[in-house]
Amino acid sequence: MRVLFARVASGLLLTLFALLLPIAPILLAVTTGKLSFVRRYPTTVRKSITHMRQLIVTEALTRFFSGRGHQPEADVAAIGGHCNRCGNCCLDRKCMFLEVDGENRVACGIFGTTLRALGNCGDYPGSQYEIDLYDCPTYYVIPISQLKSRTTRDRTAHPVDTETVFGESR
Ligand code: SF4
Repeated sequence: MRVLFARVASGLLLTLFALLLPIAPILLAVTTGKLSFVRRYPTTVRKSITHMRQLIVTEALTRFFSGRGHQPEADVAAIGGHCNRCGNCCLDRKCMFLEVDGENRVACGIFGTTLRALGNCGDYPGSQYEIDLYDCPTYYVIPISQLKSRTTRDRTAHPVDTETVFGESR
């Protein structure tokens, strides 16, 4: 039932996006404060279409509405690792807001805006399911059992490296 609701909600939102496509550059400029969306109108519309297609291919909206990617897994204590800015989780590098530097590392072009906060990008990854989904090369799940045994062992050796365990660089 939850997945059905998510699919319907996703379909309705994508339909709304499609209807708003002609004024998408204006809406994006207003919501992000970036006038470049309007200045580069044809590019923004073209990227919007690609973005919508990727939302369908990756079922990102369905997962957003159903919460599948964030369902707690039985043996997950924390997410470890860091982001190497490969862009896999950015709709397989086809997110319209993606910016790529000279070393092929990605950055979010709308980082810090309300529009980004509305999505679930900042929460990635929340589970092994999501790590696998985008083939993230650097984050990993730390099982509860592993964390417990490590904490016990480290009490006598050295403290747990919380920066690595809780992924401060995310
Ligand atoms: S979170 Fe993982 S998949 Fe996403 S950009 Fe960083 S390293 Fe790549």
